[in-house]
Amino acid sequence: MKKILVTGGAGYIGSHTVVELVEAGYEPVIIDNFSNTEERSLQGIADILGGDVTCHRIDCTDTAALREVFEKETDIEGVIHFAAFKAVGESVDEPLKYYHNNVGSLVALLQVMKEFNVNKLVFSSSCTVYGIPAELPVTEQTPVQKANSPYGNTKKICEEILTDLATSGSDMYTTALRYFNPIGAHPSAKIGELPLGVPNNLVPFITQTAAGIREQLTIFGNDYDTPDGTCIRDYVHVVDLAKAHVVAIERLLSGKAGNIEFFNVGTGTGNTVLEAVQAFERATGEKLNYKIGPRRPGDVPKIFADVTKATEELGFKTTTTLEEAMKSAWDWQMHLKETAK
Ligand code: UDP
Repeated sequence: MKKILVTGGAGYIGSHTVVELVEAGYEPVIIDNFSNTEERSLQGIADILGGDVTCHRIDCTDTAALREVFEKETDIEGVIHFAAFKAVGESVDEPLKYYHNNVGSLVALLQVMKEFNVNKLVFSSSCTVYGIPAELPVTEQTPVQKANSPYGNTKKICEEILTDLATSGSDMYTTALRYFNPIGAHPSAKIGELPLGVPNNLVPFITQTAAGIREQLTIFGNDYDTPDGTCIRDYVHVVDLAKAHVVAIERLLSGKAGNIEFFNVGTGTGNTVLEAVQAFERATGEKLNYKIGPRRPGDVPKIFADVTKATEELGFKTTTTLEEAMKSAWDWQMHLKETAK
């Protein structure tokens, strides 16, 4: 079995990817410092798979600790790098924390990968690199823009580091996946998103409101130039997104990938915030308490992916509808409620 190191493998997208890797016949090994996840995600992975996945509790910025993992885990064939902070607002308040962690962990990882002759990497990027795009849907050729938060800038800088490495004559092969909006949870409801404190993202806020943890959802603005005035996003189910990592690592290991490649990973369909709320209500039968509030500063009015490249070159396709994704998010919320009792 091919061994794949998954940094941030106990996190939201990481945990789902670990499950998909095992189901595709790989042996994932997790690195996580549990700064933004909980032990229960490992238990959830084990429950789904019927056995534990190896996990090293280290910080990915710690070069010496990374080295120890590579020494112990011989035969690592590729790495999927999720470990990063992701709260846009927090990154504005604490930029150094974001540059140190998100950029520092990539640099440390690349150095150690080089020392151990591991040269296949899938990198977690984001559609945030497109800023407010001038054209829709966005393709991988759509220009990358100046980031509007330190978080977004770390993704842009990491892509630049990987591009510089690719053009330096190094034999590192990287595939950067630019995620649109990941939502939902594993159909087993044993793993899912574990937001710390008040969620910033739409779907955990919706499920927590319906569960009575939050009183009301505020929809940030209904005066945008969209059919119902609310912002448009491309909501991709986390299991579909996880599978994109499996096909990306497969392509890297097969030797077909270029030194640096970028892929949009979304559904190709844009939905408004109101459509997302309605899909949640239809999928769950729950009535959501929401109101319209002012715009959230820094919000992109509309963005959705052109996924032609990922479809044609990776064989990527999504299979989960928005309603199914909402239902899975709700089932996960219910699981959290039951296990909190
Ligand atoms: N949103 C909202 N209320 C919330 C959280 C999000 O109306 O409490 C909207 C937000 O304005 C955006 C969409 O939901 O249009 C997705 O927001 P999220 O923060 O999940 O993702 P991002 O803005 O990073 O794409």
